[in-house]
Amino acid sequence: MRRASRMAVIRCDGKEVRIGGDAPVVVQSMTNTDTADVIGTAIQIKELARAGSEMVRITVNTPEAAAAVPHIHEQLLRMDVSVPLVGDFHYNGHKLLSDYPECARLLSKYRINPGNVGKGAKRDTQFAQMIEIACRYDKPVRIGVNWGSLDQELLARIMDENAARANPWTAQAVMYEALVTSAIENAQRAEEVGLAGNKIILSCKVSGVQDLIAVYRELSRRCDYPLHLGLTEAGMGSKGIVASTAALSVLLQEGIGDTIRISLTPEPGGDRTKEVVVGQEILQTMGLRKFTPMVIACPGCGRTTSTVFQELADRIQTYLRDQMPVWKKEYPGVEAMNVAVMGCIVNGPGESKHANIGISLPGTGESPAAPVFVDGEKAVTLRGDNIAEEFQAIVLDYVKTHYSKEKSAA
Ligand code: SF4
Repeated sequence: MRRASRMAVIRCDGKEVRIGGDAPVVVQSMTNTDTADVIGTAIQIKELARAGSEMVRITVNTPEAAAAVPHIHEQLLRMDVSVPLVGDFHYNGHKLLSDYPECARLLSKYRINPGNVGKGAKRDTQFAQMIEIACRYDKPVRIGVNWGSLDQELLARIMDENAARANPWTAQAVMYEALVTSAIENAQRAEEVGLAGNKIILSCKVSGVQDLIAVYRELSRRCDYPLHLGLTEAGMGSKGIVASTAALSVLLQEGIGDTIRISLTPEPGGDRTKEVVVGQEILQTMGLRKFTPMVIACPGCGRTTSTVFQELADRIQTYLRDQMPVWKKEYPGVEAMNVAVMGCIVNGPGESKHANIGISLPGTGESPAAPVFVDGEKAVTLRGDNIAEEFQAIVLDYVKTHYSKEKSAA
């Protein structure tokens, strides 16, 4: 059951992305290029959007980066890419947004870290300055608290309050309270400056799974703003994926979270779009959204000693994902399709019958035949060296005959 929250609308080139309310959970990503590099940044945004990122955050950290934003936007239009861009601001956001009005106008949303807005008396005026610009250009704002850059004055205040308690909280509880209080107090401050409550999204990112779950449970209990979820600094490879999945799954299952980002550290030269794929797969495997046809594949065992079925499963999954940018326009509903690629007769025919299309490859010692099942019925048996190509053709034929704009409108 989704937690009831307000809804924020993010606008870009005449299109809208809704966050919160009854809208589906949105997948975001963030570039790692130098934003001042217009072409490099535009290309990475295009790749992230093509992979399915529904919003892309870019850092806006220097005058050069702010000046580049209109050119990036123009480049994206030239490449026929329309995806909301979120500007990530720290330390000098008030100045950059004031000095570069086209940057302020063309970004679809601003992310403000209240721990990095300024110190002392400057803090409130600089925060207010950014919120006033958001009001002027009618932009939603994410107030994104991060425990690596927590407002130290607020933390000191909460520690003082804790010291005065008869039974002081643990240091961990104080940290949770500081994170949640920072998000909520800054949201209230933004509303006092004039930003509408439905233009505010909150996040409180930490890097520990149990910490994230505890903080977001408390945050969702104390406010009804839409919440952006993410385990910050999740890490590399399987550790980053597992930690993010563990944390986000618990919260999403409780209805907490309106937008997500998976903060994976890419391998050197690795593909930035992995964070989008992981985010989509978390939502799809939990049954919350459908993005791309899923391949069900067995893990293999001693009954299959060749790599044929592993290669076929990988090939089909890659093929399906690569087709989706076109298929989602031409064949709506195809994202719900299931394809099974199984290694032998033990579970192969049974699992294949449960999928829209399934193939049961021959295990060791079985006759070299691969029955294909379509909608639960055996349709054909493939043999020989071209099983992969023939199976891919069957999948394409199924897509063309079962999904279309007309069928989805009917
Ligand atoms: S379907 Fe066959 S090959 Fe695959 S895991 Fe089961 S027994 Fe092993």
